[in-house]
Amino acid sequence: MGNPKRKFSKSRRDKRAAHWKLDSPMFQECPHCHAPKMPHRVCPNCGKYKDRQVVQYE
Ligand SMILES: [Zn+2]
Repeated sequence: MGNPKRKFSKSRRDKRAAHWKLDSPMFQECPHCHAPKMPHRVCPNCGKYKDRQVVQYE
C-alpha cells in the first residue's frame, strides 16, 4: 500500500502549519475608563494614552 517510506522526525512533525496558531492577544484595563485595552495601544474607549488625549471622539 502507499505508505510513507520513513517516519517524520519530531522536528518535521512539530513544524506542521496546524501548530502555528498564535496565542490570544493580551488585555489590560485602561486606567482612565477601566475598559479592556491592549498594552502599548491607545485606549479604544476614551482615546487616551499615558495621561494624554491622543484621539478625539465626538
Ligand atoms: Zn480608556
